[in-house]
Amino acid sequence: MEVITLGTGNPMPDANRAGPATLVRTGGRDLLFDCGRGVLMRLAAASGAATVLHTVLLTHLHSDHVTDLNDVVTMRWAMSFQPTPLPVVGPVGTARLVERTLTMLEDDIGYRLAHHEDLAWRPDCPVTEVTDGVVLDDGHVRILAAPTDHAPVHPTVGYRVEADGTSVVIAGDTVPCPGLDALCAGADVYVQTVVNRALIEQIPVPRLQDVLDYHSSIEDAAATAQRAGVGTLVLTHPVPAPAPGTEQAWIEAAAAAGFTGTVLLAHDGLAVTP
Ligand SMILES: [Zn+2]
Ligand SMILES: [Zn+2]
Repeated sequence: MEVITLGTGNPMPDANRAGPATLVRTGGRDLLFDCGRGVLMRLAAASGAATVLHTVLLTHLHSDHVTDLNDVVTMRWAMSFQPTPLPVVGPVGTARLVERTLTMLEDDIGYRLAHHEDLAWRPDCPVTEVTDGVVLDDGHVRILAAPTDHAPVHPTVGYRVEADGTSVVIAGDTVPCPGLDALCAGADVYVQTVVNRALIEQIPVPRLQDVLDYHSSIEDAAATAQRAGVGTLVLTHPVPAPAPGTEQAWIEAAAAAGFTGTVLLAHDGLAVTP
């Protein structure tokens, strides 16, 4: 199993960080978690493509995590040479988002159907809405979901992927909560979106202060990881984006908060093998 942090940005456009998206690759399956800005460019850099994605799994429906879902849907459809449905998993509300995305794409779908004689089918995205429990189990890979806490964004879910005797948690945006603890128990790798509380508290901008109450801080992520006995904590979606040269301070903050495992600060294209 391999985890690749395709996009590690937050909602603010960043020249070096695409929007939130993480790929878990196992047994020939490419599982895409969230579809932030530029996801297909980063997926291409990881030798992936929309046409061969196994499943798209959404942690929540905040725009920065789903803004390029439309691109994934379009490329899956327009670049496939036979009908290839794109399975989409996500919290309640995902079916409505996918339906609206297809409505938004309606003109483009019409243009391409009219222009390409060999393209005779429409995009198809079967949606499974999940809250808790087993999402997928095909004998090689098992994926579990659990509710997370990103209030007032609701519902939200995190995922745990198990294969080859290893486990990876893709938490999404959440504060520490029982669902997250359950997912993380004994996980080899835990990928958590984080905010730097100490830095944000020095920036007197209300809209930035607001992010503190519904994200894990570095210290929160470290505490969750330590409580769960996680092997490697991967900090992603850092808010604010770390100034070049300050990355080590983020890692040290997690260690200082009491996490005794390995800490990584993700960059786009970071590959982690559990
Ligand atoms: Zn969010
Ligand atoms: Zn986010």
